[in-house]
Amino acid sequence: MIILVLNSGSSSLKYKLFNMPDEELLSSGLIENIGDAHKKSVFTYKNLPHEKIKGETDCKDHRHAVELVFDALTETTSGFLKNLKEISAIGHRVVHGKDIFTGPAVVSEDSLAEMKKLTELAPLHMPVNIACIEECIKILPGVLQVAHFDTSYYTGMPEFSSLYPVPYDWHKKYSVRRYGFHGISYQYVNETASLLLKKPLSELKLISTHLGNGASITAFSQGRVLDTSMGFTPLEGLMMGTRAGYFDPAVIPYLISKTGFSLEDIIKKLNNESGLTAISGIGRDMRSIIDASREGNTRAQLAFDMFVHTLRKYIGAYFFSLGGADAIIFTGGIGENSPEVREAVFENLAPLGLAIDEKANRSIKREKTGFINTETGKTKILVIPANEELMIARETYKTAS
Ligand code: ADP
Repeated sequence: MIILVLNSGSSSLKYKLFNMPDEELLSSGLIENIGDAHKKSVFTYKNLPHEKIKGETDCKDHRHAVELVFDALTETTSGFLKNLKEISAIGHRVVHGKDIFTGPAVVSEDSLAEMKKLTELAPLHMPVNIACIEECIKILPGVLQVAHFDTSYYTGMPEFSSLYPVPYDWHKKYSVRRYGFHGISYQYVNETASLLLKKPLSELKLISTHLGNGASITAFSQGRVLDTSMGFTPLEGLMMGTRAGYFDPAVIPYLISKTGFSLEDIIKKLNNESGLTAISGIGRDMRSIIDASREGNTRAQLAFDMFVHTLRKYIGAYFFSLGGADAIIFTGGIGENSPEVREAVFENLAPLGLAIDEKANRSIKREKTGFINTETGKTKILVIPANEELMIARETYKTAS
């Protein structure tokens, strides 16, 4: 059964085409800079086993991006499919399901209407997620579509970690609480860890970190999430590429009075101009930050140190809350590819049973999976490449069969 998975971000669209249940990846691609007036969109796609194809294109919005994906899949020279009708089902990543969508949902008029009501909770992402679904309905009417929510994995998180200590009616009346994000990614890495550790998830205590441009961390035990760092929105928690992470909200009225910025300006700055970008002064890319630190750039070094310090604080808190951990997992662009960050995170932690094997750590990058702890380390340390699309394909296949 051929399943298409679409993973739409605020200015990008990734796709993967799978043959299920064999989990064979047939084709994959990415369109970036969608709707950017200043930059050309870049479309990279692979029709396996053909060569990688990369080119600039004009892509005005996400609906257009979906059309480009379908064109690429069927193009006579390089396309993989002869006819779009070969696609049996489409799985979509949707960022917010509130407490309404506690698992994958078949797309229907009713479920789509419910999703539209959630736009105010994720105004950058929900409209593009929904536009992609609607475009697919237009191009392939009648084909099964399943929405997979980043927040569903947190269903069952206890109240003591999902509520904020704020006036209780904010929670009751306005649904203000911790929702958590990156859930599909955590489901995938935790299930993979369970296979590698040869233990059922219900018997494992796991601390998983997803460190990409957005970054978060999740503690998991007794088969459910105990706590996670992102909150009502993805702004809370770790220091990220351009997001501040945890931050004292009392600074906001102070800054408004001092600068004349509007509330909206400040929230934008906390989301798009903070984190690694703000501190390093040279952008958000961890590779450049590490290179610049080596060359003596003190702000780049500070950005690296702050990133690692924040991560260590959260790992420490979750390690304590869980009463130790069977494994700590790294995923996302930084987690998968940066031995420097991983090494710094575990510096001086051998007395707690947390120690990195230097050689294993250096050898694991670029889509490799493996253990990087020392043999004597009590807690396993694992690197597992993120694969949200495969998780979505598995769940879509379950719904379709
Ligand atoms: P997104 O959250 O946008 O999906 P990714 O998970 O792809 O992002 O992560 C992107 C980030 O991964 C880049 O900004 C870069 O900082 C980091 N990264 C990629 N490769 C390396 C590397 N070799 N060393 C350090 N960081 C890396």
